[in-house]
Amino acid sequence: MSYDYDLFTIGAGSGGVRASRIAALTGAKVAIAEEFRTGGTCVIRGCVPKKFMVYASEYRKAFKDAKGFGYTIPEISYDHKAFITSLGSEVDRLSGIYARNLNNAGVELIHERAEIVDAHTIKLVKSGKTVTAERILVAVGGTPFVPGEFEGAEHCISSDQIFDVEELPKSIVIGGGGYIAVEFAHIFAGLGVETHLVYRGDTVLRGFDDDIRTAVHQGMVQAGVHVVTSAVFEKVSKTSDSDHQYKVELSNGHAIDADIVMGAFGRSPYTKGLGLENAGVELAANGSIKVDEWSKTNVPTIWAVGDVTDRVNLTPVAIREGHAFADTEFGGKPHHFDHDKIATAVFTQPPVGTVGLSEEQARAEHGEIDIYKSDFKPMKNALSGDQSRVLMKIVVRASDQVVLGCHIVGPDSPEIIQAVGIAVKMNATKQDFDNTCALHPSLAEELVTMRTKFVPT
Ligand code: NDP
Repeated sequence: MSYDYDLFTIGAGSGGVRASRIAALTGAKVAIAEEFRTGGTCVIRGCVPKKFMVYASEYRKAFKDAKGFGYTIPEISYDHKAFITSLGSEVDRLSGIYARNLNNAGVELIHERAEIVDAHTIKLVKSGKTVTAERILVAVGGTPFVPGEFEGAEHCISSDQIFDVEELPKSIVIGGGGYIAVEFAHIFAGLGVETHLVYRGDTVLRGFDDDIRTAVHQGMVQAGVHVVTSAVFEKVSKTSDSDHQYKVELSNGHAIDADIVMGAFGRSPYTKGLGLENAGVELAANGSIKVDEWSKTNVPTIWAVGDVTDRVNLTPVAIREGHAFADTEFGGKPHHFDHDKIATAVFTQPPVGTVGLSEEQARAEHGEIDIYKSDFKPMKNALSGDQSRVLMKIVVRASDQVVLGCHIVGPDSPEIIQAVGIAVKMNATKQDFDNTCALHPSLAEELVTMRTKFVPT
């Protein structure tokens, strides 16, 4: 059988682009279809623009802190539209780089939606063309999940639209208590917006270590976010009030008026209408594509990587999955990505850096655990007047002293945890940490100087 392409990839985000480029560089004939813009969630409406918003929102506090160091700060002003314009240009630039890199590798970039017809056939929706490929890779990512339980969901925006809002709102209500909700709560509070976060549980960031969750939760309150727990949206409606555009009625009987209502209720695999059923590709109940460790579906000619498989939904993971697929199928270097002990960050202010097991997971999986914890005021805050503290925690398996997890809430923790992740991935022991000489004065030195096991009182 001969096919139009050796590989056809659907979705030009992080995972799809990496897989396509690596495959093409081996000499394979590769095409990639993208219905929106090259770069995917991370570059266009996720990690990258979000991090710029974090930077933008940190300045207000930095100006305030600078006073403690002798600076006189004149009255500051902030032009959100100017920032959004700069941000848009940078996203355009990065998206262009993705397209150029594909082109340089010899990948054909097709700017339209593609859907699966059968195990080797793809339909290009706009042009109506049909093409064939020996292998198909699905890398279409996710899309915001909108719960059906409340009225007026059409008034909510998601993180997909938040980067296009040109006028800074006076107030915002954010629903959810995961990564996106807590990061944007800090961003808007940092920009001086009256910010409300409504979460159905009692402490945000379910799934993270409990101490980290508590620290982040308290940190949000300290940053001025109005946190409402054990409540969900019941109804969102437009108001005639000239000060606010929307009214959010909550399950606890209260209501909040705001200019913007943002839902951050998770993301769902973007598989609807993709035609996967035509080829017999098996999906999980939430619509994600079931794959094995080689990212292969139950159909021998179709693979899937990234958020659409709902394994670990992070950009670097999608990249590694895509790279491993291309190396295995085209490069003659079979390997698969190991999803264990992936360092990750939540860009709250201060941020969270975490790798490995939480205390709760470690106890459940390994039994007896030693905990080392430190909660302290960072040196800089002595002069800045900032009241926030740093939390560092090391989770150690009692039997052999292997470090199973490390969790930090504090300045620069994403930078610190990336390096700690190497040690944890190498199964370093607590003694290896202790054998490492401290770097003084730093926050991170605490990680190698904690000697006393934490004993709960
Ligand atoms: P998350 O899955 O992290 O959080 C979803 C939140 O919505 C949870 O608090 C959940 O509550 C709540 N929720 C879910 N359903 C409902 C409902 N029906 N009613 C009320 N609340 C509900 O998703 P996010 O949207 O925050 O982020 C999506 C993904 O994007 C993340 O999983 C992550 O992989 C990725 N991401 C990563 C970032 C990073 O690495 N820094 C940054 C941003 C996103 P409960 O806790 O009770 O389940």
